[in-house]
Amino acid sequence: MLHANWAIEQERLDALARFDILDSPEEEAFERVARLVCRILDVPMSTVAFLDGHRQWFKARQGIDACETARGPAICNFTIGRAEPLIITDTLRDGRFCENPFVTGPPHVRFYAGFPLRSAEGQNIGTLCAMAPAPRSITADEIVILQDLAAVVMDALELRQLASVDGLTGALSRRAFRDAATRQLSLAKRHRHEASCLLLDLDHFKAVNDSYGHATGDKVLAESIATCRSLLRESDLIGRIGGEEFAVMLPLTGREAALGVAEKLRSAISAQHFSAAERSFSITASCGLSTFSPAMTDLDTMLQRADQALYAAKEQGRDRCVAAAVAEVESSLGRRVLKAGQIVFNSGRSVIDCTVKRLSEQGASLAIMNTAGVPERFKLAIAADGFSKTCEIAGKAGGELEVRFA
Ligand code: GH3
Ligand code: MG
Ligand code: MG
Repeated sequence: MLHANWAIEQERLDALARFDILDSPEEEAFERVARLVCRILDVPMSTVAFLDGHRQWFKARQGIDACETARGPAICNFTIGRAEPLIITDTLRDGRFCENPFVTGPPHVRFYAGFPLRSAEGQNIGTLCAMAPAPRSITADEIVILQDLAAVVMDALELRQLASVDGLTGALSRRAFRDAATRQLSLAKRHRHEASCLLLDLDHFKAVNDSYGHATGDKVLAESIATCRSLLRESDLIGRIGGEEFAVMLPLTGREAALGVAEKLRSAISAQHFSAAERSFSITASCGLSTFSPAMTDLDTMLQRADQALYAAKEQGRDRCVAAAVAEVESSLGRRVLKAGQIVFNSGRSVIDCTVKRLSEQGASLAIMNTAGVPERFKLAIAADGFSKTCEIAGKAGGELEVRFA
């Protein structure tokens, strides 16, 4: 990628992060669009893809096995750089793609039509694609239909952001929570009241979906939030701010009392029993909390502190509540970010794309397609920030690397 484009790419990733769509479960609304694309063009493959730092991740897919692929060779990489669709009638006759691994190997893409998924603010966060293993042309009418379908995908995403209540759990939407919590915080400031904020995240929730299916996952999510709501006061706010992550704003509540509330929610969640596929199971949750202080004048700072405390709760073994210490510096528990990074080694000859998910003065959390082949020591570059530091691996889990700066 050209250097001048990194700042633009960072704006794109910031827009993508706001939609909070990456790694969310399969949803019929998006599958339907992918199926329609296949039917209308009579092609076997279609995807609704979103591109973060190191991968293209499929929200919906037809005729494609993988749920994500490395971003480097993704043909969609070209599409997100454009305002117009990218149509390739025969990849083997196109110098840019004839040696592409997705052309020469599975799924052997010969025909490709990619339509940018463009947000209201003008960022291409992903693509709607039609693909076939044989060359094909596309008519002007078909292009118009697919452009409309790409707009349908974006409308669904934008509308979801405007909703004030989350349909599954009845919690406030992210936006509505932010608005109401900001109002509460300014009241607390003006009247010098206390206020605390909790971030609650279900533990190993992916495993619930994997073992029992998404429908059961949805039920567990809805029941857990109903349990929490029954224990909170009318004046408390609860919002769904991520897939299985909830924020609670507690007005007139100091640190000790907030820890009491957090503990009550945590233990009520773990006391629930669920059953599916003739098995019974239960779940746990981790909670981070932060309390309003003179140093914390805005909701974002408060949420960030709660998020760092939540991260600490996860690190310490989950199923627990951790309060952000009043004077705790941001240093070791980094901020949540979504940035494109490069793992550079072998004197600059080897480069692996990654997504930086957390960043602090001391280290970072990185997501990559494959941790094999990454040396113990390398340079992490974040071009958008002009950042480059030598790191050592401190931990590996799945496709995630924890690194410490040397
Ligand atoms: P951790 O303890 O670290 O939080 O592990 P985790 O598996 O909960 O964390 P991760 O963030 O990796 O995965 C969250 C999972 O939550 C992934 C996603 O499929 C699932 N999820 C998010 N939103 C929904 C939803 O609306 N319904 C269902 N069923 N699952 C969801
Ligand atoms: Mg979780
Ligand atoms: Mg989570």
